[in-house]
Amino acid sequence: MQVGEFLYEGKAKQIYATDNEKVVLIKYKDDATAFDGTKKGTIVNKGIVNNRVSNLLFKLLEKNGIETHLLEQIDDRQTLVKKVKIVPVEVVVRNVIAGSLSKRIGVEEGVELADTIIELYYKDDELHDPMINEYHARVMGWATAEQLKEIDRQAHIINKVLKEFFDSINIILVDFKLEFGLYEGRIILGDEISPDTCRLWDKISLEKLDKDRFRRDMGKEAEAYQEVVRRIEAVLA
Ligand code: UDP
Repeated sequence: MQVGEFLYEGKAKQIYATDNEKVVLIKYKDDATAFDGTKKGTIVNKGIVNNRVSNLLFKLLEKNGIETHLLEQIDDRQTLVKKVKIVPVEVVVRNVIAGSLSKRIGVEEGVELADTIIELYYKDDELHDPMINEYHARVMGWATAEQLKEIDRQAHIINKVLKEFFDSINIILVDFKLEFGLYEGRIILGDEISPDTCRLWDKISLEKLDKDRFRRDMGKEAEAYQEVVRRIEAVLA
């Protein structure tokens, strides 16, 4: 596989073309951003952790019937993935109240939800990713009704698999964000699932093991990310 031209730089990753038009290369960076990119920093070896964590979790999901973009990890920061057309809708799955939900409904963080909540956000940095519903997504042409139903179905399965897995390593999966893409006409899971895109709390101490440490200036970000990869590798590697 030959690495081709640089295609795109996001906040945490770079994307390169390859000699196969259906495949792109992801490079994970240590750059960390929060609050729409207004807070910037780095978390030591975050790119290595996220590459590893996301790939291990995607493999677990594949075993449970979820197709992902993962093809092959090349080295500690680089992974080959299927080139998808990203659906411009971010899917947030919640099990416990935290973050923006806590603010929106005025309930303190940490309250367990009676059932899963799934929220949709329009993926547009300039608009600060506004919350939308399925009507907006369908009527604006960002996804068809059938695709939205499939995304919802997969999001529930992903949540069940990951919640049980994290519970087995003494971590509460509070909430997380998913991005889906179209590949050969199918909806498949793209982007990453990592401590950047999940809230992960230690089951006993409730210590935060995710990007909230960076967002909230709590310190020990790198250590928290290492702890997550250590626990995951102990079971999945
Ligand atoms: N999230 C993300 N990218 C975003 C927004 C949210 O990965 O652009 C994740 C976030 O890490 C958390 C979940 O989605 O695990 C829910 O985030 P929330 O809506 O509470 O927003 P936040 O408080 O992070 O701004």
